[in-house]
Amino acid sequence: MPHSPEIGFVGLGNMGGPMSTRLVAAGYPVAGFDLADSARADLASSGGRSVDAVGDLAEADIVILMLPNSDVVESVAAQLATLMRPGTTIVDMSSSEPTRTRRLAERLAGHDLTLIDAPVSGGVRGAVDGTLTIMVGGPYTDVPGLEELFARLGRVIAVGPVGSGHAVKSLNNLLSAAHFWLTSEAIAIGIQLGVDPEVLLSVINTSSGRSGSSEAKWPNFVLPATYDSGFEAQLMLKDLRIAVGLADDVALPSVLGRDLVALWQAALEGLPPHADHTEIAKVLLARTSGSPASVATTP
Ligand code: NAD
Repeated sequence: MPHSPEIGFVGLGNMGGPMSTRLVAAGYPVAGFDLADSARADLASSGGRSVDAVGDLAEADIVILMLPNSDVVESVAAQLATLMRPGTTIVDMSSSEPTRTRRLAERLAGHDLTLIDAPVSGGVRGAVDGTLTIMVGGPYTDVPGLEELFARLGRVIAVGPVGSGHAVKSLNNLLSAAHFWLTSEAIAIGIQLGVDPEVLLSVINTSSGRSGSSEAKWPNFVLPATYDSGFEAQLMLKDLRIAVGLADDVALPSVLGRDLVALWQAALEGLPPHADHTEIAKVLLARTSGSPASVATTP
């Protein structure tokens, strides 16, 4: 294995784009594929090698996947299984379904391929800056060069065997979605009571109600009405469903989680298909009568 492993990267979207670019900038030979021509062109312009098909990644030592869901991950991994060299590794950094991840790892082991799950949190900003939290499932320290590669993208927290990274990621996003929903409801109520949302946020952010939603999402994406965090509302709904399914699997149903899935799904029906998850706030703000000028409810 060479000092710098050959990296394949599939899924060059909001997250995979900047992550692959960081690896190129760190000197890794990166070959990337995405269905979107524009995403492939972006990789090529950053100095990576854009390829026309997953089949062109046969030489990679490590292939990273940053794809929408387990359906796509399984389909791409099935193609890779027949062409990657025995002893090489697939790292699924998408937010996938842990049960399916464990089954996929078994199938890939039959081809002498290792699967590591390494989903992330930190958003597009974290992907650009290399400050992601990377929750890793599986024996990643056994994979030559993988620790060094992860260090270029963020901070690793090893969480257990393969699949456990994906489980932890969904639990984090159960909390993140709940915080965002409830923060938006609290601010909508505050507006109705005549409280300026910036004043309310300044109280929350120096008090016990604070969260990533109050400290970052509301100030950065909702108050300026840009709604451009780069994380789609439908991807958050996927993560919520995974978390609620896991709760059912361990016979600890999440009552609030189930409600949140239903609420989030209903809110999505009023938004465009690729709406940013922060646009959920628009739906909740729309219920107020006469929002103050500092909160625009349309972009
Ligand atoms: P995205 O939609 O921007 O990117 C996904 C990319 O995959 C797209 O460019 C799409 O063209 C490509 N793609 C889809 N099917 C493909 C296929 N068969 N072959 C090749 N390319 C294919 O999504 P994203 O926001 O980058 O999210 C990717 C993953 O990371 C998701 O699982 C998401 O839940 C997770 N995630 C996203 C964020 C975020 O802030 N955006 C944060 C943490 C985790």
